Amino acid sequence: MSIQLDNVSKTYYLKGRTVEALKPTSLSVQTGEIYGLIGYSGAGKSTLLRLINLLEQPSSGTVTVGDDNLTEMSAKDLRIRRQKIGMIFQQFNLIESKTVYENIEFVLKASKYDKKDVPARIEELLNLVGLNDKSNISASNLSGGQKQRVGIARALANNPDILLCDEATSALDPDTTKSILNLLKSINKSLGLTIVIITHEMEVIKEIADRVGVMSAGEIVESGETYELFSHP
Ligand code: ADP
Ligand code: ADP
Repeated sequence: MSIQLDNVSKTYYLKGRTVEALKPTSLSVQTGEIYGLIGYSGAGKSTLLRLINLLEQPSSGTVTVGDDNLTEMSAKDLRIRRQKIGMIFQQFNLIESKTVYENIEFVLKASKYDKKDVPARIEELLNLVGLNDKSNISASNLSGGQKQRVGIARALANNPDILLCDEATSALDPDTTKSILNLLKSINKSLGLTIVIITHEMEVIKEIADRVGVMSAGEIVESGETYELFSHP
């Protein structure tokens, strides 16, 4: 599904100080595309990412996903719409004391997924991410790469149109990073999922992004096809 930001900005007010985290920014991501945002810490990447699913309210502008203008939705409709926007995180954000199965069951319960279909859906998701033998393992006993695979399974549980990736490989070693990026690529292909990924790592962008935006001081200062912007070695 496509994503369209029109003149979206975000200003934080902190103790009488204003921080313009994102200057008015317009951006289109096409259905099925993998779009990367790269930049140093503080550039505004996570603010932009959090504006796509309205985890942050924009100070101005509109966010459109498919045909839906999210900025005009009621809180209730937005909550339902968000179930179709998956997200994965640098620190995985799993419930460490719970099993792999329970971590995924949790979101299916929250979305009122038909109870009788839950076990089969979880099995399908674990097959997709290659963790079918880890269902009953506690999340705390998984490696980083395995945790991120659970994060991906959880993000895909409600069959989203869009996957947002917040520094999803930054806590992983290079080999594990490669395997997670390969998984994301195969999911992008097989499910036609639109992916937006933010990272400070050039290698990640080169490996996975069709197009890239370079962020600095709250702006996309450069953008284009990855192969044009960054020549492969
Ligand atoms: P990045 O993801 O590229 O590291 P961020 O979007 O996290 O950048 O931050 C952009 C700027 O906005 C930084 O100056 C940061 O300190 C500021 N910022 C981010 N979130 C908040 C917040 N909740 N309150 C105040 N300032 C924030
Ligand atoms: P990341 O860059 O990995 O997104 P940060 O450490 O920048 O993580 O931010 C973690 C949380 O703190 C986020 O919710 C962000 O919005 C918030 N945050 C970031 N910078 C500030 C700030 N200057 N003041 C208040 N909150 C902030």
